Amino acid sequence: MNKAVFLDRDGVINRYDSPVNKPEDLELYPWTAKAIKSLNEKEYKVFIVTNQGGIECGYFTETDLNEIHQHLLATLKKEAAHIDDIEYCPHFNSDCKCRKPEAGMILKLAKKYDINLENSFMVGDRNSDIEAGNKAGCRTIKLGSKYPAADYSVENLEDAVEIIVNAQELIYI
Ligand SMILES: [Mg+2]
Ligand SMILES: [Zn+2]
Repeated sequence: MNKAVFLDRDGVINRYDSPVNKPEDLELYPWTAKAIKSLNEKEYKVFIVTNQGGIECGYFTETDLNEIHQHLLATLKKEAAHIDDIEYCPHFNSDCKCRKPEAGMILKLAKKYDINLENSFMVGDRNSDIEAGNKAGCRTIKLGSKYPAADYSVENLEDAVEIIVNAQELIYI
C-alpha cells in the first residue's frame, strides 16, 4: 500500500485573496514547489482535493478549471514538483458525498491508488478540510488559525511538510 498527502488547494498551494477563475489568477506561495518536491522525495503520493462549487454556481466551467489545473501542474513541473492526481467537487448546493467536510474525494483517491489512510495526511486551511481528513481516517494538519479537531496546527504548507517528514518514524512503528 502507498502513503499519501492530500492537499487542499486554495490557501494551501496558492494564495486565495480573491477567487481563482482563470489560470492567470493562480499565484503559488513561494514555498509550494519545494514543499511538494520534499513529499515526492519521501515517496508520498501527493493529491489535491478541492471544493470548486463555483462550477455549479456558474462562475466558471469544468473546462476553465482543467485549464487552471494544467497550468498549475506545468508550473510545479518546472520546479521538479509532482502532483499525482487532482479531485474536485463541482457542487455547491447539491447533496453530494464529495464536497468537504465529506470525505468522498479522499476515499475515491485512496481506492484508486491503494492508499493506507492511517499513514496519510490531509492538509487544509479550513475546518471542513480537517473534518474530511478525520472522517477518512487520515492524520490532519490545519494551516493558519488553530482547530482543536486537527492533529497539528501550523502556519503554512512548508511547516506542514516538516511535520510529515519528521513523522515518518512514528508511522512505521
Ligand atoms: Mg482552502
Ligand atoms: Zn460534490
